[in-house]
Amino acid sequence: MGSVDTLIVAGIDIGGTKISALLVDRLGTVLASGTVRAPASEGGDAMSAAAAGLVRALEAETGTVVAAAGVGAAGVIDPETGTITAASESFTDWVGFPLAVDLGARLGIGVAVDNDVNAFLHGEMSYGAVAGSSDAIGIMLGTGVGGAIAMGGDVFVGPRGAAGEIGHTPGYSEIVCTCGQRGHLETLASGRSIGARYSERNGGIVTDSALFVAEKARAGDPAAIATFDAAGEAIGMAIATAVNLLDVQDVVIGGGVRGAWDLLEPALNATLLDNQPVSGYPLVVVPSALGGHSVALGAAALAWRLLDRGATANTMNVNDLVRNAL
Ligand SMILES: [Zn+2]
Repeated sequence: MGSVDTLIVAGIDIGGTKISALLVDRLGTVLASGTVRAPASEGGDAMSAAAAGLVRALEAETGTVVAAAGVGAAGVIDPETGTITAASESFTDWVGFPLAVDLGARLGIGVAVDNDVNAFLHGEMSYGAVAGSSDAIGIMLGTGVGGAIAMGGDVFVGPRGAAGEIGHTPGYSEIVCTCGQRGHLETLASGRSIGARYSERNGGIVTDSALFVAEKARAGDPAAIATFDAAGEAIGMAIATAVNLLDVQDVVIGGGVRGAWDLLEPALNATLLDNQPVSGYPLVVVPSALGGHSVALGAAALAWRLLDRGATANTMNVNDLVRNAL
């Protein structure tokens, strides 16, 4: 009988443009990694097949067989069934797709599925910037702004899987958000918004790239600096509100805009200094430590938990399928 320590799991990050996967051991050591294009316009079946193919290729490359898989996927995920219940328009036939069941059947193992931002927070709590924390908030500043909340060691997904949507809390501007409503945090703090707000201030250069604006800010462009100050202040206000509501001490910030942490940090810290938690407890806000691997590593952490709990949660149907097939 093999030792538990020899088991390997797969952590999969499914986004709108690419699917990444890692094979990971119990300590979070990455044994192999790969990325394929996400066939988001071809439907859930094609996405699931691409993810399964990537895992099979990594197994072949390393001569291993994974014991379980976890997925961090774009969209809102039903925490009971691992089915996608809401997603952006860039995905075809993704809403309603039973990802945990389908991918579990393709791979013949238990598969746990969570939202990509929840997986990001799992990853940072398991192996990253807030490792060892049991109560934390994760904020991903990417194309949009995503959020996740963990309390008592577990990510709180909410009854509809939509807890932690800090990006769509109001009061930060008068600008129309990607969701159609007005003034949300995302209108100042997402990568796309940082590009758009800079374009408005600058009056000439048009961009949707926060990293382009970051280059400008580092070169001393006042419009670019003001754009990052506005983003940092808004994120600080959102964090101050959330930590007072939840009595959470650790906050980790990831996503593509994390690459401009040096530019966000001054206004973010100034805002937090002016808005300390009433608990008097020192708040710790840190950038992601796992970079581009945080979602996949968090997904791997979900897979380990699935194994430890005897593969229940949102793969119960898969286990029945597998059992029936034997
Ligand atoms: Zn919104």
